[in-house]
Amino acid sequence: MSIQKTPEKNTILFSWLNQYAGILLKTPSKTLVIDPVDVKPKSLQNVDAILITHEHFDHLDPRLITETQKATNCQIIADSASTKKLQFTIASDKLQEVKPGSEIKIGEVTVKAEKCNHTAQAPVTYIVASEDQVKIYHTADSLPFPELAIMGQKEKFDMVFCTVGISPGSSPQTGFEIARLTKPQVAVPYHTGTVSSQTEFATLLKRELPRTACLIPELKKIYQVSKKEVKT
Ligand SMILES: [Zn+2]
Repeated sequence: MSIQKTPEKNTILFSWLNQYAGILLKTPSKTLVIDPVDVKPKSLQNVDAILITHEHFDHLDPRLITETQKATNCQIIADSASTKKLQFTIASDKLQEVKPGSEIKIGEVTVKAEKCNHTAQAPVTYIVASEDQVKIYHTADSLPFPELAIMGQKEKFDMVFCTVGISPGSSPQTGFEIARLTKPQVAVPYHTGTVSSQTEFATLLKRELPRTACLIPELKKIYQVSKKEVKT
């Protein structure tokens, strides 16, 4: 899975890789992969950085990460628990541990780790700002939490990924609550195996938050997000 096209200025491309929080992001200069599992190592090409949110099996696959790192020489950015699991196979100068509040530069792309409301050891969520300041918020499989409202006001997200299933306590309603608090331009329901949970999320969004567009992704399709519009 790789995105051949290079996005235009003020634009990013993304693809949803699995039923969970696996996302491939391409900015004009960098390719980032978040929580890749259930993909073949060889299919992840030209990767500059892999971001891991927590140690659960549906987010962290140490073998896949190790193989991809060897093949691409990419940077690995991970929460504390995942870092512990990766430290034996990833060179220390390529492995960066993050906690809520950490900020890392990948060229001109900024990655900020934030809090995550999920029952894992030290989970984080990630704000990715492209070199043109297109801002994406990857919430792992977090449930809503109050600080999201302040983050939304401060960051003015272009796109937020919202968990609508599979993980404990999550539902279309909790996913919608993340969108309601962060108020992005585009909200993307993910972390689910059912289209009905995504359409339920879309219905809630349309009724309660009409200024936020809903993008229901299909697996492995490529989507374009810019400051003003979304295209397939
Ligand atoms: Zn998960």
